[in-house]
Amino acid sequence: MTKETIGYLALGSNQGDRESHLENAIVKLEEETDISIVKASSIYETDPVGVTDQPAFLNMVVKFETSLDPVKLLKVTQKVEQMGGRVGKGTWGPRTIDLDILLLNDENIQLETLQVPHPRMLERGFVLLPLKEVEPHLRLNAGRSIDEYINQLTDKEGVRKWKSSFGGEGFARFES
Ligand code: AMP
Repeated sequence: MTKETIGYLALGSNQGDRESHLENAIVKLEEETDISIVKASSIYETDPVGVTDQPAFLNMVVKFETSLDPVKLLKVTQKVEQMGGRVGKGTWGPRTIDLDILLLNDENIQLETLQVPHPRMLERGFVLLPLKEVEPHLRLNAGRSIDEYINQLTDKEGVRKWKSSFGGEGFARFES
């Protein structure tokens, strides 16, 4: 089956061995026959937003191809979150692993369970900085460049490059 949808996922973790949680999530996504990871950003460390009394996050973005429809894709990302030990549903609280679907081709999806483009992605440095790394010439909304959105961010200082790629050899091919 051709994987005709190109998309971007944001991954985040601020509990336990944060890097392993990111790495395990990518391994699990790769195990899905209907999903191929094409490229991965560096890993960034991010001061928590909202509830600030919690550990710092590691964040990254991956570009992928899939033949799954958006709702099935969400089911897969939620399964991977659960396998990663995520508990509870608090939007701002600590989490083992969080996966957000950012973009799927040019689709605009407004379902109760799924909104794409992700509604808060344009305000988040920890999303836009790694996204620019995997897709430097990306245009968003009405054709505005990702740089325009990055220039408007107020939380950029809280987002630091932490590691340029995964240590594991299996991830070398995703290096940006
Ligand atoms: P969060 O706690 O921020 O990970 O939000 C998880 C909830 O957001 C789930 O109930 C999803 O159904 C919903 N959701 C809506 N849009 C998206 C999206 N683009 N990616 C991931 N989850 C989404």
